[in-house]
Amino acid sequence: MSDPLVDSFGRVHNYVRLSITDRCNLGCQYCRPGNRAAYTSQTDQLNFDEMVAIVNVLAEMGVTKVRITGGEPLLRPRLEELVAKLGALSGIRRIGLTTNGMLLASKARALRRAGLTDVNISLDSLLPERYAKITRGGDLGRVLDAIEACFEAGFETLKLNVVLMQGVNDDEIESFLRLTLDYPLQIRFIEYMPVGNHTEGWKAKYMPLEGILAQCAKREWNARLVEPADSLANQSFCGAADDAGPAKYYRISGAAGEFGLINPVSDHFCMGCNRLRITANGYIKPCLYWNDEWDLKPFIGNDEMLRKVFRQSLEAKPQRHEMIVQPSHKPSQHVMRRQMSQIGG
Ligand code: SAM
Repeated sequence: MSDPLVDSFGRVHNYVRLSITDRCNLGCQYCRPGNRAAYTSQTDQLNFDEMVAIVNVLAEMGVTKVRITGGEPLLRPRLEELVAKLGALSGIRRIGLTTNGMLLASKARALRRAGLTDVNISLDSLLPERYAKITRGGDLGRVLDAIEACFEAGFETLKLNVVLMQGVNDDEIESFLRLTLDYPLQIRFIEYMPVGNHTEGWKAKYMPLEGILAQCAKREWNARLVEPADSLANQSFCGAADDAGPAKYYRISGAAGEFGLINPVSDHFCMGCNRLRITANGYIKPCLYWNDEWDLKPFIGNDEMLRKVFRQSLEAKPQRHEMIVQPSHKPSQHVMRRQMSQIGG
């Protein structure tokens, strides 16, 4: 392995989130506020070979896991070809996909065959009308079909991402928890983050996640913390025992599945950050929150220069995000140039 991807705080990076498009077929209110983001032109977008060339160098430097994200990654035709090419790279052990699921049902089997190991589907409501409202036009039926197709295709892990918002979907916590009783999947409740230029209105909808454990107690569901090694997600770690990612997982006694709590706002987990992000137009971002990014496109094909830019970006990686100003717990006034849909979450 050529010199590993270590930043100035000693954090080792073995995970890359690869955004393959900033286009989306939905307009989730918390992700694309105003639904007005300008899209990258097709010509500025990396092609699959360019993505593979970048990930190849990262893999030589210790990256073992790639998550394909967007925008909506399934809008790129022949996604299974990218998965197969990434899977053929020496060192890449896991390939995940984060998707809204709208186009997934008919593709799940081909993606699995191509080597996709892990699927995360974003699903913020189990009520069709509410789902359509949050996503500005999403069809819940299609997402449910996608979940079924994923079970049939046999992915190693299947996670549903739920961004919890007060007054929007917090009355559905129990319905989501009930899914874990019957299905071997992971429901991941995620705190709503004040990112991407839409901090106004965030505070009214933000809620911390402790209430979820209280709801279990109220129902007399015994929810126990699951050790990373025993978790359904243990296969998706990149190798190290402490590599469970930001979620803490719980299992209700007798349940087939688990639920996870991800607290990027109330309990930032930056010191454990092992991620790099590549945008659809070929920039590397060492931190989701800060605007610093480095253009990789001019150096594709020149591995020494790519390594140099990766190192530069890691040297500049800040210790932590500052979404919230303490102690007032107000969103910071920092303006993020990219919306979440332009970064990939
Ligand atoms: N289109 C795909 C999808 O819907 O999963 C992938 C892109 S989306 C940007 C990736 C993840 O970011 C989703 O799980 C979404 O819920 C999450 N996300 C977007 N905006 C967020 C916010 N303000 N707070 C928390 N999570 C957010």
